[in-house]
Amino acid sequence: MINCRDCLLALDSYIDRELSDDDIAQVRVHLHDCGGCLDLFKFEESVRRLVRVRCQEQSAPHALRARVEVSLAMERIRIATRRQSRSVQRD
Ligand SMILES: [Zn+2]
Repeated sequence: MINCRDCLLALDSYIDRELSDDDIAQVRVHLHDCGGCLDLFKFEESVRRLVRVRCQEQSAPHALRARVEVSLAMERIRIATRRQSRSVQRD
């Protein structure tokens, strides 16, 4: 049986599936018995999932660039509109 400290140390590798079958079994048993480590495992896993999604977005540079360009264009319009309305007020 591993303790909480061992479990937390192994958690990264466990999520990345880098552990041996024996270690995986030990972590799995501990997570089954220990709510605290299980909560942390779930949190870590959800963070990983988020990072993975973000990385996939970045590996699609065209879509990303298009989105950045759109938001830059919107910003430019917003600034131009603000400038216009200000000069209207001045007149
Ligand atoms: Zn634990």
